[in-house]
Amino acid sequence: MIIDLRSDTVTQPTAAMLEAMMKAPLGDDVFGDDPTVNALQERIAAITGKEAALFMPSGTQSNLCALMAHCERGDEYLVGQNAHTYRYEGGGAAVLGSIQPQPLAQNSSGEMALSDIEAAIKPIDCHFARTRLLALENTWNGQPMSLAYLEQATRLAKKRGLATHLDGARLFNAAVAQVADGDVFASVRKIVDNFDSVSVCFSKGLGAPVGSAFCGSRDLINRAHRWRKVLGGGLRQSGLLAAAALHALDHHVERLADDHALAQRLAQGLQGIPGLNVRSAKTNIVFVDVTDQRGPALLEDLKNNGVLATGLIGLRFVTHMGVDAKGIDHAVACIRRFMLGQIGQSSLNAGHSSVY
Ligand SMILES: *Cc1c(COP(=O)(O)O)cnc(C)c1O
Repeated sequence: MIIDLRSDTVTQPTAAMLEAMMKAPLGDDVFGDDPTVNALQERIAAITGKEAALFMPSGTQSNLCALMAHCERGDEYLVGQNAHTYRYEGGGAAVLGSIQPQPLAQNSSGEMALSDIEAAIKPIDCHFARTRLLALENTWNGQPMSLAYLEQATRLAKKRGLATHLDGARLFNAAVAQVADGDVFASVRKIVDNFDSVSVCFSKGLGAPVGSAFCGSRDLINRAHRWRKVLGGGLRQSGLLAAAALHALDHHVERLADDHALAQRLAQGLQGIPGLNVRSAKTNIVFVDVTDQRGPALLEDLKNNGVLATGLIGLRFVTHMGVDAKGIDHAVACIRRFMLGQIGQSSLNAGHSSVY
């Protein structure tokens, strides 16, 4: 049995999810008549409090369609230096959208300083790209962003005439972590309320095999719809996949709290082990810095013991519905044994770790 903590994208559909997929009424979504896709789009639009939504093959395509719907050729978006929509999407906005990113420094909570945002907005002048959009990401490294910051940043953007987009790949994790009165969907709306658009992933902690959604005004969704087709994302009987996402919205949202508890269990189990600096997030991601350069050797040793994670020096462990407390305890025991045992021989590898 492999305990796969590389990402929450590795989940397998449950038997109940597969059954929902098999039963889903299907049509041709390029003609707009797949009833299950339409139901999902209405559902996620209602949950996020937006006018409309579009089912997307991936979070990357969803964000790209968002950027292309908000910006035109020669426009620019303000984005975090380490944000997924800048750093981890292959330069798609520039390559395919002729949109210039303006990356800005972020603090450890993923926030760009409001003064930096303000200073980066270009004057209307033919020397400059037209600053059109502010893009944020929540959760940030597994941490829900503060509602106060989201409010301030979106207010500033609005004041300066910028549109706002939230890369909410793990929006539901943020909502569960910040829930008040037990109403997760109210928590979702509180987070996205001030944004013009939001992208959410069904294929991460929610446990669907494929799919994301882009949500926003009807007009914005119409523009994104065109770009989705241009990018090859017009799918046919995609209700098969939308059914999995609908099932996830019905059954897998509240249980994200279980993933968060498992991440806490992992973080607590690793506390105090010499050579480790554990940075536990409030959701389902735990970062562990191996301070004595044995990170790559530890990863290798874990792999030999059936535990998968990502990273080199800073290791990343992500919990999800495919792991349980027993698996986490096994991972903790393996890490403890390795760190307290022989010095690993592996040398430090330079490079960049992947984020999925
Ligand atoms: C995973 C992820 C995406 C992209 O999702 P894919 O479906 O893998 O393309 C975008 N943004 C963030 C923050 C993510 O974690």
